[in-house]
Amino acid sequence: MSSAPSGNKPRRFPLRLDQVAATPARPTSPRELLRPQAPLEHAARDRRQQSTPQGLGMDSRAVQRRMVERLYADGIRHQRLLEAFSAIPRHWFVDSALVNQAYEDTSLPIGLGQTISKPSVIGSMIELLCVRPGLTPETVHPLGHCLDIGTGCGYQAALLSVLSRRVVSVERLRDLHLKARANLDRLRRDMPHWQDVRLVYGDGMLGHPPNAPYDTIIAAAGGAAVPQPWIEQLAPGGRLVAPMEDPRTGHQVLTIIDRLPNGQLQQAVAGQVLFVPLKSGTT
Ligand code: SAH
Repeated sequence: MSSAPSGNKPRRFPLRLDQVAATPARPTSPRELLRPQAPLEHAARDRRQQSTPQGLGMDSRAVQRRMVERLYADGIRHQRLLEAFSAIPRHWFVDSALVNQAYEDTSLPIGLGQTISKPSVIGSMIELLCVRPGLTPETVHPLGHCLDIGTGCGYQAALLSVLSRRVVSVERLRDLHLKARANLDRLRRDMPHWQDVRLVYGDGMLGHPPNAPYDTIIAAAGGAAVPQPWIEQLAPGGRLVAPMEDPRTGHQVLTIIDRLPNGQLQQAVAGQVLFVPLKSGTT
C-alpha cells in the first residue's frame, strides 16, 4: 500500500492515480481480472459457458452449497463471509426467469440496465473489507458500521448485514430501491436473527452523512475518482473498497483506501475490474 503524503495535513482526495501506481499493487489473487458487473452481453456469454444447475426448486440448498465450495476453492477463506454466502439465498434476489442461474459465478441482469455482481467478485471485495486496519481480535462484526453504495437488488447489502454492526445502503434508482426493499422484507420475515439494513433512496456519491462515520464503505459502481464525501465519512481504522478509473489506461481498477487509526490515509489498487458507472443524482 502507498502511504499518503507525510506532513501534518493529510492530502485531499481524490489522490492522483500516478501516486497509487507508483507503489507495488497489492498482490492479486488468481482472480486477476474481476468482472463484477460486466455488461449484459458478457453476463450472457458467462452463462453460456457454464452449466445451469438443475432442479433449483427442489435442491436450492445443495446448489447454494456448491457455490460456497467454489468460492472457497477460488480463494475466499474468511469463515464468516462464507457463512454469509450460505445464509443468504441468492435466488430470492434474481428474477424468476433467472433462478436456475442464481448460484453460477456470473453477473445477472436485475433491471434498468443494472446487474447483480458475480459472487466471486462480491466475495473478493468483502474479504478485503474484512481486514480493515481498525480490526482487533475482539471485533465481533468485522465490517463494523458499513456504507454500501449501489443497493441494486439488495443481495450484497444482505451479505454485508451478516458481517456488520449496521449497514446503510444507498441506491439512486427508485425502482431498484423499492425492489431491494421487497427482497429484504422477505429476509426479515423468513430469516430468524435477521439484522435489518437501512435502505436509502438517494445519490450515493454524497455518501450518507446522517449515519457517518463508517468503518467500511463499498461501492458497486465505478467513476473517475473516489468522491470526496466517502473519504470524509470513513472512520479512523476504516477501509473503503471501490472501482475507480485509471486515467492513464482508462481501465477501472479496484481501489482500496484505508484511514489508519491515526487518521492518515493509505491507498492501493487490487486489480482491474468492470463495474457499471457511478452516476450522480436520482431517477
Ligand atoms: N450491489 C448490487 C449491485 C447493483 S449494480 C446488488 O447486489 O445487486 C450497481 C448499482 O449502483 C446500480 O443499481 C446503480 O443504479 C447504482 N448506482 C450507480 N450510481 C449510484 C449513485 N451515485 N448512488 C447510488 N447508487 C448508484
